[in-house]
Amino acid sequence: MKTWGMIATWRMAIEGVTLGSEMLKNGEKCQDALEKAVIFVEDYPFYKSVGYGGLPNEECEVELDAAFMDGKTLSIGAVASIKDFKNPISIARKLSADRYNIFLVGAGAESYAHKNGFVRQNMLTERARKTWELRVKEIREKNLSPYDGHDTVCMIAIDQEKDMAVATSTSGLFMKKKGRVGDSPVSGSGFYVDNEIGGAAATGLGEDIMKGCLSYEVVQRMKKGETPQKAAQGAVDDFSKELIKRRGKAGEISIVALNNRGEWGIGTNVEFTFCAATPTEQPKVYIATPVNGEVKIEIASEEYMRAYKEKIQRGI
Ligand code: ASP
Repeated sequence: MKTWGMIATWRMAIEGVTLGSEMLKNGEKCQDALEKAVIFVEDYPFYKSVGYGGLPNEECEVELDAAFMDGKTLSIGAVASIKDFKNPISIARKLSADRYNIFLVGAGAESYAHKNGFVRQNMLTERARKTWELRVKEIREKNLSPYDGHDTVCMIAIDQEKDMAVATSTSGLFMKKKGRVGDSPVSGSGFYVDNEIGGAAATGLGEDIMKGCLSYEVVQRMKKGETPQKAAQGAVDDFSKELIKRRGKAGEISIVALNNRGEWGIGTNVEFTFCAATPTEQPKVYIATPVNGEVKIEIASEEYMRAYKEKIQRGI
């Protein structure tokens, strides 16, 4: 049996992983499978931390970050703080084909996307605007921290020709400052992949993930022979301890990893859901819970998935 595989952050990735894994099973390329899978998540209005329906910054504007990396050529493309374009992942992928100007931000990214015919769309949904209004009120009345609610979709895939790629897409931190960029479009922090080793990608508090270049760190640990599970959990645990030692606290950090044999693993310092599919495992949602230095991984029950669907569509 030929190897292929796919892993992605958060339960919101399940439909995308199902689509992408069908493509990988049929012998299609990992780059195409990832783009299609991430587009599904970007387009789905009830996923509130990616693409259309993503939660806005403190000025009520949806600013999106995305990146794409090819494990064979090490090509990278990324956009940050881009507004009003439907599929940031496709813009990032297109940029990865270029020699220069591969990481564009704000107005520059928008002008590139416009000139290259990418679809424009107002990305602020009525639902996201209402959530923003409610949050502004809560912050004012209850003196709450504004930064609550994020999640990046990160996907790594290996195809039957043993090529690998990684993709990330996010609206970043809810209520972020205008122009704030997290780890997701930053190579080595939010993502990294090398056909000769494997790939990793991160979700959580970008400000902390960037301090440890954690995706690159996980790939380097796999290079030394660690399994994806050991590499990802070891990197998250070690760096969380380091942050606590130096700064008194560590943000939420979760990492998915896939090696070039199609084996996957995850590391997390908080309850975290992810999706994976291989030739021997149907696409599934898993729940990972850190307990005493270990991580417990269970398959999400149908009831859990039903409750999740109901929650994300509930009225605001
Ligand atoms: N890492 C993302 C950011 O900081 C958010 C997340 O993945 O939860 O923008």
